[in-house]
Amino acid sequence: MSYSYEAPVSQTLFDRAAVVTPGGVNSPVRAFRAVGGTPRFMVSGTGPYLTDADGRSYVDLVGSWGPMILGHAHPEVTAAVHEAVSRGTSFGTPGEGEVALAEEIVARIEPVEQVRLVSSGTEATMSAIRLARGFTGRAKVIKFAGCYHGHVDALLAAAGSGLATFALPDTPGVTGAQAGDTVVLPYNDLDAVRAAFAAHPGEIACVITEASPGNMGIVPPEDGFNAGLKELCGENGALYISDEVMTGFRTSKAGWYGVDGVRPDLMTFGKVMGGGFPAAAFGGRADVMAHLAPVGPVYQAGTLSGNPVATAAGLAQLRLLDDAVYAHLGAASAQLRQLVSEALTKEGVAHRVQNASSMFSVFFTDKPVRNYDDARAQESFRFTAFFHSMLADGIYLPPSAFESWFLSAAHDDRALEQIAQALPAAARAAAEATA
Ligand SMILES: *Cc1c(COP(=O)(O)O)cnc(C)c1O
Repeated sequence: MSYSYEAPVSQTLFDRAAVVTPGGVNSPVRAFRAVGGTPRFMVSGTGPYLTDADGRSYVDLVGSWGPMILGHAHPEVTAAVHEAVSRGTSFGTPGEGEVALAEEIVARIEPVEQVRLVSSGTEATMSAIRLARGFTGRAKVIKFAGCYHGHVDALLAAAGSGLATFALPDTPGVTGAQAGDTVVLPYNDLDAVRAAFAAHPGEIACVITEASPGNMGIVPPEDGFNAGLKELCGENGALYISDEVMTGFRTSKAGWYGVDGVRPDLMTFGKVMGGGFPAAAFGGRADVMAHLAPVGPVYQAGTLSGNPVATAAGLAQLRLLDDAVYAHLGAASAQLRQLVSEALTKEGVAHRVQNASSMFSVFFTDKPVRNYDDARAQESFRFTAFFHSMLADGIYLPPSAFESWFLSAAHDDRALEQIAQALPAAARAAAEATA
């Protein structure tokens, strides 16, 4: 199946890109490999809309994979960036902007007593793991299959799950030594966590989990799962790390912590807090954070950490995220989930729409999805057909069945109506799709 005729300018750019960049992209999922066709090269965005190089406009439900919670080119965020840029772009010294952003995070997320700014979610989780190991003097890390924590070597061990199995690396380039201290367990399975602690007494530095997973599609923690993790960590002298890179400042004012109230020892943030710029953070208990250089022995650094332009964008965005924004996201998400479900039901397509606050995704299966195995059991070929029908009708979905859909404060009735118009044909395409 060829789709290139739909986007000739994007196709030309993609061909050019493929000469100088592996696969033509700087982050793999952008390449449309899961759905086929030509990735759209975007040239501008405003509010809920993106415009591609062929001049076509789309309602955007990706939001740069989460950061653009106010929509594209929000005037106040843009003004803050212009103001910051006009004063210079990087000094390599402390600056007030990074203090203000740290204060905003600490004020919003009660368990975060201290925070350090970095430039990507990957750096945040990598640093949090190092800190947990340095703090506890232990080597092993528990993670869950289907949870993504950036491309940290030790955390790219997602496959080969099974009770207390030492994971094999998921990718060439990660050595057995780097992944060998990672224990991968099935999500939503506290018994597996209990057994892993029992199998490795005194060896586990931390459990890292997505606060509410969004990287295998949306698979929320079952009641008591996060609280159980926290308790098991406490009993066993390990740290509980909640990765809120995706959920932070999105699922509520205080992220997923604001939803379930389970108090992590360390947390990681990214995406929304950067306002579309590379800014991320990790933070938590002050006694743990005190082990970081220059106060403590655990080294961590970054030339562009706390960059003045990125912190200005992030701060401007966070300050605009009030109760009204979260109420809007919640209502728009509920409306859209219902529309999607109705359209698919009408065409007899088995599906589950799962959500974590306003984040949601559609699984093409009739069973509840509680872990990665469940997620992978869906009929993703139906998503492919659904995706391309929506794209042809000007709706830009994440190009994979295993990603969250993201709304913004700028998704108004008009944008929702455009999505509603596109759904019947997409549902029909999903119904007619064959594996
Ligand atoms: C996106 C994401 C990361 C990685 O962040 P990058 O900025 O892409 O490095 C880590 N954890 C979670 C939960 C994420 O969604």
